[in-house]
Amino acid sequence: MNLEEKLRKIPDFPEAGITFIDITTVLKDPDAFEEVIRQMLEQVKDLDFDIIVGSESRGFIFGAALAFAAHKGFVPVRKPNKLPAETLSIDYDLEYGSNTLEIHRDAIKPGQKVLLVDDLLATGGTANASCKLVEELGGEIVGTSFFIELSGLGGREALKDYEIYRLLEI
Ligand code: 5GP
Repeated sequence: MNLEEKLRKIPDFPEAGITFIDITTVLKDPDAFEEVIRQMLEQVKDLDFDIIVGSESRGFIFGAALAFAAHKGFVPVRKPNKLPAETLSIDYDLEYGSNTLEIHRDAIKPGQKVLLVDDLLATGGTANASCKLVEELGGEIVGTSFFIELSGLGGREALKDYEIYRLLEI
Protein backbone atom coordinates (compact mmCIF):
# COMPACT_ATOMS: atom_id res chain seq x y z
CA MET A 1 0.00 0.00 0.00
CA ASN A 2 1.30 3.47 -0.87
CA LEU A 3 0.71 5.31 2.38
CA GLU A 4 1.90 8.66 1.08
CA GLU A 5 -0.92 8.60 -1.48
CA LYS A 6 -3.39 8.25 1.38
CA LEU A 7 -2.32 11.59 2.87
CA ARG A 8 -3.86 14.90 1.88
CA LYS A 9 -1.61 17.94 1.47
CA ILE A 10 -3.28 21.25 2.25
CA PRO A 11 -1.53 24.33 0.88
CA ASP A 12 -1.39 27.51 2.97
CA PHE A 13 -2.56 25.92 6.22
CA PRO A 14 -2.46 27.07 9.01
CA GLU A 15 -0.84 30.05 7.31
CA ALA A 16 0.38 31.16 3.88
CA GLY A 17 3.43 29.29 2.63
CA ILE A 18 2.96 26.20 4.81
CA THR A 19 1.74 22.95 3.30
CA PHE A 20 0.00 20.95 6.01
CA ILE A 21 0.10 17.16 5.89
CA ASP A 22 -3.42 16.05 6.76
CA ILE A 23 -3.46 12.56 8.30
CA THR A 24 -7.25 12.40 8.78
CA THR A 25 -7.58 10.81 5.34
CA VAL A 26 -5.48 7.90 6.64
CA LEU A 27 -7.41 7.64 9.90
CA LYS A 28 -10.77 7.22 8.18
CA ASP A 29 -9.44 4.44 5.94
CA PRO A 30 -9.39 1.29 8.10
CA ASP A 31 -6.89 -0.56 5.90
CA ALA A 32 -4.51 2.41 5.77
CA PHE A 33 -4.75 3.16 9.50
CA GLU A 34 -4.19 -0.50 10.37
CA GLU A 35 -1.22 -0.65 7.99
CA VAL A 36 0.40 2.42 9.57
CA ILE A 37 0.11 1.00 13.08
CA ARG A 38 1.26 -2.44 11.89
CA GLN A 39 4.39 -0.92 10.28
CA MET A 40 5.12 1.38 13.23
CA LEU A 41 4.86 -1.67 15.53
CA GLU A 42 7.14 -3.69 13.24
CA GLN A 43 9.83 -0.99 13.47
CA VAL A 44 9.94 -1.13 17.29
CA LYS A 45 9.29 -4.83 17.80
CA ASP A 46 12.82 -5.49 19.10
CA LEU A 47 12.91 -2.38 21.25
CA ASP A 48 12.61 -2.89 25.00
CA PHE A 49 10.08 -0.35 26.26
CA ASP A 50 7.55 -0.27 29.11
CA ILE A 51 5.20 2.52 28.11
CA ILE A 52 4.27 4.91 25.30
CA VAL A 53 4.06 8.69 25.67
CA GLY A 54 2.15 10.74 23.08
CA SER A 55 1.57 14.47 22.88
CA GLU A 56 -1.64 16.35 22.18
CA SER A 57 -3.36 15.86 19.93
CA ARG A 58 -2.39 13.59 17.04
CA GLY A 59 0.18 11.88 19.24
CA PHE A 60 -2.81 10.56 21.21
CA ILE A 61 -4.25 8.87 18.12
CA PHE A 62 -1.10 7.14 16.93
CA GLY A 63 0.38 6.63 20.39
CA ALA A 64 -2.76 5.06 21.85
CA ALA A 65 -3.28 2.80 18.83
CA LEU A 66 0.35 1.65 18.99
CA ALA A 67 0.14 1.14 22.77
CA PHE A 68 -2.97 -0.99 22.32
CA ALA A 69 -1.33 -3.04 19.57
CA ALA A 70 1.86 -3.52 21.63
CA HIS A 71 -0.09 -4.13 24.86
CA LYS A 72 1.67 -1.26 26.65
CA GLY A 73 0.28 1.60 28.69
CA PHE A 74 -0.21 5.09 27.28
CA VAL A 75 0.65 8.44 28.89
CA PRO A 76 -0.64 11.73 27.45
CA VAL A 77 1.43 14.92 27.27
CA ARG A 78 -1.06 17.78 27.14
CA LYS A 79 -1.46 21.48 26.55
CA PRO A 80 -1.54 23.57 29.76
CA ASN A 81 -4.30 23.21 32.37
CA LYS A 82 -5.88 20.10 30.86
CA LEU A 83 -4.47 17.41 33.15
CA PRO A 84 -6.34 17.11 36.47
CA ALA A 85 -3.64 15.81 38.84
CA GLU A 86 -0.29 17.33 39.77
CA THR A 87 1.73 18.19 36.67
CA LEU A 88 5.24 18.95 35.49
CA SER A 89 5.47 21.66 32.77
CA ILE A 90 7.98 22.58 30.12
CA ASP A 91 8.16 25.69 27.94
CA TYR A 92 9.82 25.47 24.56
CA ASP A 93 10.46 27.97 21.78
CA LEU A 94 8.62 28.04 18.48
CA GLU A 95 9.66 30.07 15.45
CA TYR A 96 7.36 32.81 16.73
CA GLY A 97 6.57 32.64 20.44
CA SER A 98 6.58 29.63 22.71
CA ASN A 99 4.51 26.64 23.78
CA THR A 100 3.94 24.79 27.02
CA LEU A 101 3.37 21.07 27.53
CA GLU A 102 2.49 19.18 30.70
CA ILE A 103 2.61 15.63 32.03
CA HIS A 104 1.25 14.10 35.22
CA ARG A 105 4.05 13.89 37.76
CA ASP A 106 3.15 10.31 38.66
CA ALA A 107 2.75 9.16 35.03
CA ILE A 108 6.32 7.86 34.65
CA LYS A 109 8.25 5.93 37.28
CA PRO A 110 12.02 6.41 37.58
CA GLY A 111 13.83 3.95 35.33
CA GLN A 112 10.83 3.25 33.09
CA LYS A 113 11.71 2.80 29.43
CA VAL A 114 9.62 5.07 27.25
CA LEU A 115 8.77 5.15 23.54
CA LEU A 116 7.71 8.64 22.42
CA VAL A 117 5.13 8.59 19.60
CA ASP A 118 3.70 11.33 17.39
CA ASP A 119 2.16 11.54 13.93
CA LEU A 120 4.76 13.85 12.47
CA LEU A 121 8.27 15.16 13.12
CA ALA A 122 8.92 18.67 11.79
CA THR A 123 11.32 20.91 13.77
CA GLY A 124 11.40 18.39 16.62
CA GLY A 125 10.39 20.99 19.20
CA THR A 126 7.30 19.11 20.39
CA ALA A 127 8.99 15.71 20.56
CA ASN A 128 12.10 17.05 22.25
CA ALA A 129 10.06 18.89 24.90
CA SER A 130 8.03 15.72 25.53
CA CYS A 131 11.25 13.70 25.93
CA LYS A 132 12.58 16.24 28.43
CA LEU A 133 9.41 15.93 30.53
CA VAL A 134 9.85 12.16 30.64
CA GLU A 135 13.52 12.47 31.57
CA GLU A 136 12.78 14.98 34.31
CA LEU A 137 10.51 12.35 35.87
CA GLY A 138 13.36 9.83 35.73
CA GLY A 139 12.17 7.95 32.65
CA GLU A 140 14.48 6.80 29.89
CA ILE A 141 13.61 7.56 26.26
CA VAL A 142 14.55 4.40 24.36
CA GLY A 143 13.16 5.62 21.04
CA THR A 144 10.95 8.08 19.19
CA SER A 145 8.44 6.87 16.60
CA PHE A 146 6.66 8.89 13.93
CA PHE A 147 4.41 8.12 11.00
CA ILE A 148 5.96 10.98 8.99
CA GLU A 149 9.21 12.94 9.05
CA LEU A 150 9.23 16.27 7.24
CA SER A 151 12.84 16.54 6.16
CA GLY A 152 14.86 19.73 6.09
CA LEU A 153 13.26 21.27 9.17
CA GLY A 154 15.87 20.24 11.73
CA GLY A 155 13.89 17.49 13.47
CA ARG A 156 16.75 14.99 13.36
CA GLU A 157 19.17 17.51 14.82
CA ALA A 158 16.73 18.41 17.62
CA LEU A 159 16.37 14.69 18.45
CA LYS A 160 20.03 13.79 17.95
CA ASP A 161 20.22 12.20 21.40
CA TYR A 162 17.44 9.75 20.55
CA GLU A 163 16.80 6.90 18.17
CA ILE A 164 14.25 7.90 15.49
CA TYR A 165 11.85 5.49 13.78
CA ARG A 166 9.56 6.71 11.02
CA LEU A 167 7.61 5.29 8.11
CA LEU A 168 7.54 8.13 5.56
CA GLU A 169 9.96 10.91 4.77
CA ILE A 170 8.43 13.84 2.92
P1 5GP B 1 7.50 20.12 15.48
O1 5GP B 1 7.33 20.35 16.94
O2 5GP B 1 8.37 18.91 15.17
O3 5GP B 1 7.91 21.33 14.72
O4 5GP B 1 6.06 19.81 14.89
C1 5GP B 1 5.47 18.55 15.05
C2 5GP B 1 4.20 18.67 15.83
O5 5GP B 1 3.31 19.57 15.18
C3 5GP B 1 3.49 17.35 15.90
O6 5GP B 1 2.82 17.24 17.15
C4 5GP B 1 2.49 17.39 14.76
O7 5GP B 1 1.27 16.78 15.10
C5 5GP B 1 2.30 18.87 14.48
N1 5GP B 1 2.47 19.22 13.05
C6 5GP B 1 3.27 20.17 12.53
N2 5GP B 1 3.15 20.24 11.21
C7 5GP B 1 2.25 19.28 10.86
C8 5GP B 1 1.71 18.84 9.60
O8 5GP B 1 2.00 19.34 8.49
N3 5GP B 1 0.82 17.83 9.65
C9 5GP B 1 0.48 17.23 10.82
N4 5GP B 1 -0.41 16.21 10.78
N5 5GP B 1 0.95 17.63 12.02
C10 5GP B 1 1.84 18.64 12.03
